[in-house]
Amino acid sequence: MSTIKSVVGHEVLDSRANPTVYVEVKTSSGATGYGYAPSGASTGRREAVELRDGGPRFLGKGVTQCLKALREKVEPALKGLEVSDQALIDKTLREIDGTANFSSIGANTSTAVSIACFRAAAQEFNLPPYLKNGKGSHVLPTPMFNVLNGGKHAGNGLGIQEFMIVPAAQSFHESIRIAVEVYLNLKEVLREEVGVSAVNVGDEGGFAPPFTTTTQALDSLVKATRRAGYKEGVDVFFALDPAATSFYRNGKYTLDGKTMDSTKLLEHYLKICTEYPIISIEDPCSEDDWEGFVSAKRSLKGLRIVGDDLLVTRAENIEKAFEIDACNAAIIKINQVGTVSMAVDAINSAKSHGWLPIVSHRSGETEDTFISHFATAYSTGAIKSGAPARGERTAKYNELLKIEDSDPSCVFKGISVFKV
Ligand code: PGA
Ligand code: ZN
Repeated sequence: MSTIKSVVGHEVLDSRANPTVYVEVKTSSGATGYGYAPSGASTGRREAVELRDGGPRFLGKGVTQCLKALREKVEPALKGLEVSDQALIDKTLREIDGTANFSSIGANTSTAVSIACFRAAAQEFNLPPYLKNGKGSHVLPTPMFNVLNGGKHAGNGLGIQEFMIVPAAQSFHESIRIAVEVYLNLKEVLREEVGVSAVNVGDEGGFAPPFTTTTQALDSLVKATRRAGYKEGVDVFFALDPAATSFYRNGKYTLDGKTMDSTKLLEHYLKICTEYPIISIEDPCSEDDWEGFVSAKRSLKGLRIVGDDLLVTRAENIEKAFEIDACNAAIIKINQVGTVSMAVDAINSAKSHGWLPIVSHRSGETEDTFISHFATAYSTGAIKSGAPARGERTAKYNELLKIEDSDPSCVFKGISVFKV
């Protein structure tokens, strides 16, 4: 029995120079835990919302209101609660917030608190967070590396937001090595073919070349893969996150110079998927186009159709999507829903239907490595943490490299987790 003694917040920075919330929790037995809130740019309309100060300070992005909520509401309510009772802690956070989307205390506040409590509870038993729910065999997540950035994460003409590579590797280490070899060869390909400015990077560490079409981007990935000594579709597979809400207006999609309805958009995807070894597409359609997702699931056979903005890490949305057969994989972002427990509900709901839960970073990140532990603790099977470059991205991958080295009981399932 160890209870929460203090909950202290700090205003710190994320990878885009925006303030974010850092929380430290201390327990009666002397354990501590910390957590940071990440922040999205291409956020779903139904996501839990951040609390920001407004006004001139930090261009309105300050989080002193979050710190005030921590002092005045969160700490008094959590003090004395059993730190290992994550469900009760998260329920209490929802109660003191009192809204459906954390608009009162902010999902940035609740996320950092919820993660800090999870960590403190693990520390009570001197365990790393990924072992909090027990030792025994855990699955290390298969990494998806976002190596080319477009959409809202880059200032180029690429409509699709993320071009990811997924190495067909036998271990996490091997995945990292292959990803780095392809990433650095991609840099050479872009430098030679487009010029030095093409290797500037976007928010998630992927290159942001001045391409305007999806095939230009995928062709460069094929070249980089081959130059690294690998074969696309054998050693390296591709995954896309169009984040299609960002190019959806008045019921039409504008991508690759064409304005299309969802039927034409899916034909476009189908053509791309027959020409390149694509194993998953995230948010192929807008968050308001559930029917488009159903058609995508029906027509893009053998792929993981991943809901991100569509599902916003909520179990009830996953259940709805399952009923109408709209997806077979779900992005899991703790700050999209605001607590660890609700994200776990989403993971359980996805798994119960044979879906792949993919734990994900946000485009605005911090040095926090919690998602590496979280993905392993719940054996979700996959993780997205951007390119194998930039400290806030590599922090997550590095943590998984260390877990793999130190814990031989962890298993790695590689590309097989994408099999449908
Ligand atoms: P975000 O985007 O973190 O900017 O919301 C990530 C994604 O769409 O997967
Ligand atoms: Zn996404």
